[in-house]
Amino acid sequence: MFDLTGMTALVTGASGGIGSSIARALAAQGARLALSGSNAAKLRAFRDELNAEYGQDHVEITCDLSNTQQVEELVPATVDTLGKIDILVNNAGITRDNLAMRMKDEEWSDVIRINLEAAFRLMRAAAKPMMKARFGRIVTITSVVGATGNPGQMNYAAAKAGLTGMTKSLAQELASRGVTANCVAPGFIRTAMTDVLPDAQKEALNARIPMGRMGEGEEIGAAVAFLASREAAYVTGQTLHVNGGMAMLG
Ligand code: NAP
Repeated sequence: MFDLTGMTALVTGASGGIGSSIARALAAQGARLALSGSNAAKLRAFRDELNAEYGQDHVEITCDLSNTQQVEELVPATVDTLGKIDILVNNAGITRDNLAMRMKDEEWSDVIRINLEAAFRLMRAAAKPMMKARFGRIVTITSVVGATGNPGQMNYAAAKAGLTGMTKSLAQELASRGVTANCVAPGFIRTAMTDVLPDAQKEALNARIPMGRMGEGEEIGAAVAFLASREAAYVTGQTLHVNGGMAMLG
């Protein structure tokens, strides 16, 4: 089940905390990956690790998602390199947190450009070859805060909620062509960033989660692998919430 052998996937933010777990999950199921990010050295090191672990010829494609031209070139470069694109995972994302009254224009526009607009451009570009192939899987990483809101994250929550609406619209446009579009919405996930929080703060966070712990990157990777699989053919326009029960939505 969920075998991705013969499939190709583009994963943005592939060397990050969650992105690397997603890449590992897809590679473990047999997909060949184009790993993308803006930090070429980090990306190359991760590609070498992945190739050693899974013995596939995964490739890295550097792309700064704040640069429109580079974004427009990313899907064509993936198709050129891997021969086709079956799976697009929009995972890259940034935060520029601030309270509404103090939020600077650039904090708003950077988050919208990288988290929302780049995903739009990648989805638009991927839709064409996927429709032609009569097969495609688009999986976008949103966040629980896109559904609940969060103080200090007007920009981030707007981008994540926007991705959900975009995904539902695209899902309706592409459904008849065998192409699905879905979101995975993580709650608090243990990454290098959350590892450094003081124990008291971690305990306070865990107390808000019925499971009593943060999620693991692998748990997001598994959700993405399912939605990317042939078995998920009848699931589209949905959000899979992976949050330990901290918000029971939908
Ligand atoms: P992370 O470790 O900071 O990774 C973010 C990734 O995004 C990095 O690989 C980074 O690649 C890429 N990125 C950032 N700016 C970029 C740019 N301008 N151009 C290209 N790539 C760029 O964060 P994470 O925690 O794994 O987050 C991954 C996704 O999960 C994000 O969408 C985030 O919103 C979402 N999420 C995370 C959590 C959580 O608890 N961690 C919860 C809910 C949702 P480079 O370093 O190569 O630029």
